[in-house]
Amino acid sequence: MAVAVFSLRRRALLTAAIALGASGAGVRCAFAAPLPGSKKTPAAPPPPRPKLIALDPGHGGQDPGALGYNGTAEKGVVIAIARELKKQLEAGGHYRVFLTRGGDEYVPLRERVARAQAAKADLFLSMHADSHPDSSVRGASVYTLSEGASDREAAALAARENHADAIVGGMHLGDKPDNVASTLVAMTQRGTVNDSRRLAETIVHTFGRNGVMLLPRSHRQAGFAVLTSPDIPAALVEMGYLSNPQDEKLLTIKQHQMNLARALRASVDAHFGAPSAIRKA
Ligand SMILES: [Zn+2]
Repeated sequence: MAVAVFSLRRRALLTAAIALGASGAGVRCAFAAPLPGSKKTPAAPPPPRPKLIALDPGHGGQDPGALGYNGTAEKGVVIAIARELKKQLEAGGHYRVFLTRGGDEYVPLRERVARAQAAKADLFLSMHADSHPDSSVRGASVYTLSEGASDREAAALAARENHADAIVGGMHLGDKPDNVASTLVAMTQRGTVNDSRRLAETIVHTFGRNGVMLLPRSHRQAGFAVLTSPDIPAALVEMGYLSNPQDEKLLTIKQHQMNLARALRASVDAHFGAPSAIRKA
């Protein structure tokens, strides 16, 4: 009953306040001193939390990754592009960025996944450059997690990238990490599989639009150990072939590194539906 009486009194006060508002006087006073127990004026909603992007430059430390036609090491090229991408993403104020390795250090694949999960990343982008026995093969490609590989080359690539965990510490891994099947079940339940595929398609599309040469069938799938976070949409980007002299040269040129970073930044924007995504990168 007391509540009902209070409600009536409050409604009367509010009506009076609205009437005062209509006459242009006293509104601020009426709301400045709320009655004890009355509800507070709802605060403005907080600004959206900047998305947290995990950038994962491959290899590092004792693991140089792929070695170029002229000796360029993958680990150095990919961290340079990751740092440029971090700068570009943070410049707009819409993202926070962390790198799974800060410098030339060896970080196991599982640790990279664990760091992204602990930080509650909204997106995971693993950055690599590939090598091929045929030095004429060139172009970028994008990979998402699947249990069965889309083709033999993707399977071989996943085995090479997963081998990073066997280089230090004497761990022996097969071609495929054992948690891919269970991770995929969790990812499917949470929509992460579709989000990851959408991210990969967006990167392929944005690379194409920005003149980055692509491999045929540019989005492929395989069992990459580093893409096994059930909650985080993730893709692995091979930004070119260090075994190809032209790709190797491009990957070491600052201008090309900036172009790749710009295309990746535009891809992240497009993935989250940011307004800048509709501008040409
Ligand atoms: Zn790699």
